[in-house]
Amino acid sequence: MRKGFKEFQNCLYEYLSELKKSFTEGSLIKIFGSVILKNGAILRATNKFHGRPWFSNIAVAMNNEELSKYQSDKGICYAQTLLITEVNVPNESLFHLVLVQWYDYRFDQNSDLYDCPLLKLVECCIESLLSNPDIIKNFIYKYQFLQSDGETLYSEQYSGNWWKNAKASIRPEAHILSIILYSDATTIDSLGKSSLHPIYISLGNIRTWRRNKEDAKQLLGYLPILSANNEGQTSRFKRLAHETFHNSLKFLLDPLFDEDGIDFKINNKNIWFFPRISTVIGDWPEACTFSLTFKLANSNYPCHFCQTHRNDLTSIRKDCIIIRNKENMQEYYNNGSAESIGLEQVYNYFWTIPNIDIYAATVPDRMHYLDLGLFRYQIEYTKELLGKSLEDKMNRRIAIIPRHPGLKIFAKGV
Ligand SMILES: [Zn+2]
Repeated sequence: MRKGFKEFQNCLYEYLSELKKSFTEGSLIKIFGSVILKNGAILRATNKFHGRPWFSNIAVAMNNEELSKYQSDKGICYAQTLLITEVNVPNESLFHLVLVQWYDYRFDQNSDLYDCPLLKLVECCIESLLSNPDIIKNFIYKYQFLQSDGETLYSEQYSGNWWKNAKASIRPEAHILSIILYSDATTIDSLGKSSLHPIYISLGNIRTWRRNKEDAKQLLGYLPILSANNEGQTSRFKRLAHETFHNSLKFLLDPLFDEDGIDFKINNKNIWFFPRISTVIGDWPEACTFSLTFKLANSNYPCHFCQTHRNDLTSIRKDCIIIRNKENMQEYYNNGSAESIGLEQVYNYFWTIPNIDIYAATVPDRMHYLDLGLFRYQIEYTKELLGKSLEDKMNRRIAIIPRHPGLKIFAKGV
């Protein structure tokens, strides 16, 4: 603050002279750490929140006359609040000045260009989900122990053990906000030349049937895809790509994990949440990127869940499977021997955030497993786990599924 004050002072003088006002004896400048806006949102600008887009991001509807000078998103520019002041000059009316730093700003006269690909930030995504009244109708706040015929039901996230444990680790008055991430690199033209890597967000607090509707997901942002002329295959480049991916996630998600949790407004009431990532949905290559396991079908340890050697997959016994977890993977990393277990020697962002074991949080991907030849072992393994009677029960249920559900019959022709 002290360092930038001269700068601020000059800007202020310039601004005042433009308004044909000047400082006089008794002028007073008040600097605010935070203010509550008319719409109830809190704008924070203390050092503690600098660089933390959660608290000080703003969207500015640009003045039509000036619009051509800026690179805007349909007339909206994005910025971060650095300073909020109230200026009181005697015999003049009180006015407020806010100093902002533009994220994506281009002035015609010079080539200043701050091009930020991450214009959409977590805050807007979650808030827009929570402001949808129909979603809120099916939004669950608390862990629920569900039972039927004496058996525990795990049909929803909020009835699962992960939720129970996560809830036990936070303040009792607060709630868990279960974050579900979904990402998949995808080509966006028919030639397969340009691609994007979008990442989406949804909430486990929403009942599954409601969450499966389109409006219960939000685009969180685009992850950068690195490209290089001849370096695509070098280990240095690959390492950089892994590091960039995890650093981008850190940038996007870190604001969620404030140690005091976060307030979200639901039905005009502030509710105290501790956001926690529950599940990461993606295909096999994506799961490898998140857990930083080798993305090679012929890797010695091809599974991102466990540490089974490729040669042992045919003779797998469930009592000798060693599951990958935060502790054992970090140990390999710390010893510099990550590659010996099919893990990239790169620091995993998910090791630093609470209540998630990234090796358990990703989902199985049947299509790629078929490709790897793993699916057969999974079936055998699951059969053994279920036991004969449950296996028969499953077989009976599968047998009564109609052969072509949803098949349209056009009796009168198309
Ligand atoms: Zn495995």
